[in-house]
Amino acid sequence: MTVQDDPSRRASGDGFVFVSGRLSLDLAGTLLWRRSRRIELLCCPDDLRRWIHQAGLLDTPGRMDQRALTRVCRLREAMYAIIRAWPLAPAPDSAMQESLAEVNEAARLPLPRHQLQEAGHLTRTGGVDEVLGAVARDAVDLLGGADLARVKECLNEDCTRLFVDLSRSANRRWCGMSECGNRHKVANYRKRQRQPH
Ligand SMILES: [Zn+2]
Repeated sequence: MTVQDDPSRRASGDGFVFVSGRLSLDLAGTLLWRRSRRIELLCCPDDLRRWIHQAGLLDTPGRMDQRALTRVCRLREAMYAIIRAWPLAPAPDSAMQESLAEVNEAARLPLPRHQLQEAGHLTRTGGVDEVLGAVARDAVDLLGGADLARVKECLNEDCTRLFVDLSRSANRRWCGMSECGNRHKVANYRKRQRQPH
């Protein structure tokens, strides 16, 4: 069963995974299979609330609304465009300039407030501005830092998920073994089974 065949997975947000090694790339990965079927995992404001919580950005994200969802998805797409095109060619077109301005503007927003409690635990609070700030700040740091050279796209041709390859040998090929690597292994196994001996 594919992600698209399973409506409960699309609607519930259970398809969220955090395998990219960077917050900004994990958010970019909430739109799957961008070259073909384009499967959206952030379908409604409540999906966004769940993603924020699962990403560990805020402990108890309040109720999200459509405007918050639109803002996050806009930043996600601006960020994705920039990451794919980075470093930008001289005199980038107006769409790319707009995307860059959008990412930079969001990177100036406040970050989630992290506070230590006497009981010993950390609390993370804020709203959608802080979520946008954290994601954009991560994207800006990624594009301006050494990890950029290790950003890869999953080798599954349908999958457009980006990740930072932090493996020692720099030979990671799949976004996550359970999602793509295993599918590839199964396909290879079946191919071998079909081949005459
Ligand atoms: Zn993949």
